[in-house]
Amino acid sequence: RKRNRLSAQAYIDGVLRGDRVILSQAITLVESALSTDQVLAEEVMDAVLPHAGKSIRIGITGVPGVGKSTFIEKFGWLVIEQGYKLAVLAVDPSSQSSRGSILGDKTRMEKLSIDKRAYIRPSPSGTTLGGVSARTREAMLLCEAAGFDVVFIETVGVGQSEIAVKGMVDFFLLLMLAGAGDELQGIKKGIIEMCDALVINKADGENKETAKRAKREYANALHLFPAKESSWYPKVTTCSGLSGEGLPEIWQMIQKYRDLVSRNGFFEFNRAEQRANWMQEHVKYLLETNFYNDMAIKEDLNESLADIKSGKVSAIKKARALVQLFMNQIKPK
Ligand code: GDP
Repeated sequence: RKRNRLSAQAYIDGVLRGDRVILSQAITLVESALSTDQVLAEEVMDAVLPHAGKSIRIGITGVPGVGKSTFIEKFGWLVIEQGYKLAVLAVDPSSQSSRGSILGDKTRMEKLSIDKRAYIRPSPSGTTLGGVSARTREAMLLCEAAGFDVVFIETVGVGQSEIAVKGMVDFFLLLMLAGAGDELQGIKKGIIEMCDALVINKADGENKETAKRAKREYANALHLFPAKESSWYPKVTTCSGLSGEGLPEIWQMIQKYRDLVSRNGFFEFNRAEQRANWMQEHVKYLLETNFYNDMAIKEDLNESLADIKSGKVSAIKKARALVQLFMNQIKPK
């Protein structure tokens, strides 16, 4: 794929003045696994970082079909109507495989996607989940530097991606359905433990009563969990992403959360922890991408894999030999 690379300064200026085209190009740049792009991307990131960080970052998760895109379309509308600029980013662990994306490529969030106050960016196609989530973090920071002051990060509630998203947001919201049973929804206890709001969606029409009952049950169950480090008690609520009922209350809840954690210091503490993790993730990412892009490794890899498959050499022995080869390559001359 051919792509015009701008100068670092052109990316920086474009992002900082909120140019959406350049913002998109800058995100593509940080998603690149080419080491020349990485160096450029790091320069851009470094320059925009002082302008990032001022948004409220909200993670939104739930199984396919729970109503995430409908919810984000309506909730996002409410947010921009309050005068905010909203960026919506997706972490989709499935998009790297040939099965295609769970979040889907269909035109989701029709109204939001054409509004100037919102910016929607689909999931990057990385090679590892760690890579995808790290790139999403950088995309988020670029959006903040471009002036977006609310960020939604959407993920499918089926596994590891929630943990990655939890590691980059301020507030984590889990969408659920009433009456589907936790097993059916594939919701693990761990996910419930890490959410700040448990929202029972599609509480409309005939579902309304069931949703209310589920709300009481979850509220009772949540009492059994220990208090959070943030000293926030996770809230259980109902809403309808379709009708919009319950959405203003969710926005108010997030404001309340922000007030609490700003006052008690958890907001900054959590962000500092997240930055520390970011560095560690980035080390892993740099090592891995540079390893697989190294010419000597590339030349050797297929034969090595074949030797391992045929039993000629053990996997651990080969791994060490390849890492040694890589380290010899990168030694300063
Ligand atoms: P996603 O896969 O989680 O993004 O879910 P979608 O937003 O695509 O919604 C899945 C289906 O549920 C669609 O047919 C929606 O029309 C329907 N749906 C979404 N939100 C609601 C809601 O609040 N109430 C009702 N009754 N249906 C909804």
